Parts: sequence; C-alpha cells; structure tokens
Amino acid sequence: TDYLARIDAKNPQINAFITVDRDGALAAADAADAAIAAGTAGPLAGVPIAHKDLFCTEGVLTTCGSKMLANFVSPYDAHVVTRLKAAGVVSLGKTNMDEFAMGSTNESSAYGAVKNPWHVERIPGGSSGGSAAAIAAGMIPAATGTDTGGSIRQPAGLCGITGIKPTYGVVSRYGMIAYASSLDQGGPMAHTAEDCALLLNHMAGFDTRDSTSVERAAEDYTRELATPLAGLRVGLPKEYFGEGLADDVRAAVDNALAELRKLGATTVEVSLPNTHLAIPAYYVIAPAEASSNLSRFDGVRYGHRASDYKDLAQMYSKSRAEGFGAEVKRRILVGTYVLSHGYYDAYYIKAQQLRRLIAEDFKQALSQCDVIAGPVAPTTAWALGQMADDPVQMYLADIYTIAVNLAGLPGLSTPAGFGADGLPVGLQLIGNYFSEARLLGVAHQLQ
Ligand code: GLN
Repeated sequence: TDYLARIDAKNPQINAFITVDRDGALAAADAADAAIAAGTAGPLAGVPIAHKDLFCTEGVLTTCGSKMLANFVSPYDAHVVTRLKAAGVVSLGKTNMDEFAMGSTNESSAYGAVKNPWHVERIPGGSSGGSAAAIAAGMIPAATGTDTGGSIRQPAGLCGITGIKPTYGVVSRYGMIAYASSLDQGGPMAHTAEDCALLLNHMAGFDTRDSTSVERAAEDYTRELATPLAGLRVGLPKEYFGEGLADDVRAAVDNALAELRKLGATTVEVSLPNTHLAIPAYYVIAPAEASSNLSRFDGVRYGHRASDYKDLAQMYSKSRAEGFGAEVKRRILVGTYVLSHGYYDAYYIKAQQLRRLIAEDFKQALSQCDVIAGPVAPTTAWALGQMADDPVQMYLADIYTIAVNLAGLPGLSTPAGFGADGLPVGLQLIGNYFSEARLLGVAHQLQ
C-alpha cells in the first residue's frame, strides 16, 4: 500500500504506469503475507515490482503502448511473469513504453509521453522508459524491461538506475509481444546491480515455449557480487569515445573508469571497427522483423477493429491505419520495403552480413579484455519533443547500445555520475556470452 500511495502521488506527473492493478496487487500481497506466515514463501515474497506493458499478464490489460491493443487482456502470463509470481513478487501494474517498443524516448506511446523524474521536461529514454522512470521516482523498487536495441540500458542510464540485457536466449520471450525476435531480450531494472541479480535469478532459465531459449543449468547471478576487481581487464573501444560523445558524458564515464582502476582493474584500448555500421544494419533488420511480427494485428483475432468498413481488405487497412501510430507505421513500411523482391539482397542480406562483422568485432575485442566499458548514450536525457520530428537523429543516439543486440551479447548500465545539467549518466559494461554474473559483480563493486 506504501508503493501504491507513491504511485498515486507521482504518476499523474510522471505517467510511468499505463495500468495500476490495485486489486491484483493487494490480493497478491495478502497471499505473500500468508505464505510468509506459513513458511512457504518464495524467495522474493512480497517484493513489489511492475512489468513493462509488453509482457502478457493474465487478466490484466497488456497494451504494448499502442491503441491497437487498448482493449487486450491476455489469457495467459508471459514466462517471466509466471516465474516472478512463483518467486512471490507482487506486481503493482504495467509500465508505459514506446509503442511496440519502437523508440528511444517513450514519446511514441499511445498513452502519452513519460517524464524523466530528474527533470520533468526531459525524456526518460525508451522504450522501457516507464519502468526506468517508475524506479527512479521511487514508485516501485524494481521492474521488468526489454531490450531490442538498448531499451533497458538507455532508459536505465538516462534515469540513473541499473538495468541489464542478458545474453540473447537467457530469458524466455514467451509471452513478450514481439518487436524484432532475433534481438528482443527481457531483463531486470532496479536501483542496484544486486537487486537486478536477485530478479534475474527468477527471470532466466530454459523454456521449451521459446525456440531460441538456451538450455543451460540454472545460475545464481549473485555469485560474483563480492568478487574483487583486482586484475580485471577492462577494454575501452576507441570508437565509443570519439566524435559525437558529449564532453560532460565523457567526463562522467572517465570518472567511473578511474574508480574501476582504483578498485584494481586495468584498462586497455580495444577497437570495434564496424561500430558505424551498427545503426544502418539494425534499422534494416529490426523493421524487417517488425513488419512480419506486426502483421498479426489485423483487427480479426484481437486488438483494435475499425467500426466502419466495406469489405475485408478495408477492415484490415482501416484497423491498422487507426490502431498504429506514426513510428510503428514508418517501421512497417521500411521493413516491408527491405524484404521486398528486388531489394532483399541489397538491404536485408547486406544487413545480415554486417551483423556477422559486428559480432566478429566483439569477439576480437573480448579476446583482449574481460569486459568492455563505455558510455550508454552520447548525451544526457534530451528535451521532450526535441527529436519528435527527426527519427533519424533519434536512431543515431542508439549508437553505443545497438551493436550488443546484433551480437547477442549481455550489456548492463550502471550509474556513472551526472552531466553538466545535473542529469544522470550511465556506464555501459559489455561482456562475453553468459557473463551476466560477472557484469553484475563489476557494477556492484562500483556501486
Ligand atoms: N531505440 C531502438 C529502437 O527504436 C531500440 C528499442 C528497443 O530496444 N526496444 O528500435
């Protein structure tokens, strides 16, 4: 009830929640109390969290930030939701997000922009901006997010919290509404790396319902929290510290790196020479997959249906025209174009080749160091509306996060101090496949 009261107090200004599930939360809290009294409680019994509104939640609205799903109540829970419930968490509701997770500002939500709690005229980042803002504003201690090209790390960085995108395949995508299936990955967001590790323990794990879920023994992601940093080799990609990085962000990141050295780490320059190809490759592959994934929203099976149409074709086109916002339509058009006969080889196949080169870059760099460190975003949170008419400029701000998804590697954002405007700066840590525990340990030592 404490957190519900905080949501009541702060959400009208921040707009971090699309749905507050008051009754569900109170019932779950009572059940957690009873389980604790009976000694049958799960390890996270009673911990209040919220889910990004693209995780399907049985009986609770799941909008994906879109008018298309304004009335969609899922008949089942996503894998992550089931797992966290079993651990005893209490979900207080569903957080705001860019429509279908497409965006870096949270302004494309059909339910209004989210405000950055540090400065309400600034964006919180996106697409998991509702989760990040809710945590930063103290409305909730932890939340789930998803990251296709930075959507956990970038809002975490811009809101001064911690978030980790696990290795592709570690967290089941079952019940996560798909944006770009080969890139999408769920993960935890919280104030600290320790809380993220505890949450990830109950999010990760093999699931037969996701064909890309990796079959591995269960891990304890808290196991490296106490590991000292002495001897840790930290690679600094020279491409991440070049032109385009704001001076104040660089200064904050440099401070965090100095802190790492003080704790016994050494830094070494590495190179990711194909960094400049990550944005063009991503903005072909992600829309291509999105155009295919979003074809299911046709007004027939679920979601918005136009009320007035002549025939089936018009019902499809009107339902989609009314249900999707501008950014989603832009991506569907781009995706359909790059997949079309005659252009497929020039765009989609090329982008897949670049993807391989980018993964090779990381392999090379990670052979020279244990973790890679750099900025999360080139600037602190920018003004609401600043990039609203300039999608390409917004895409360019994804430069440091997107390659990690293309390579399928884990990446984490941890607070690194503040920019000249007093807004938070994130330090990004990138590791080899399945090095989540290590990344969380390094972040914990810094925190
Ligand atoms: N900003 C990127 C995009 O718009 C990443 C979004 C995400 O990770 N979901 O596609």
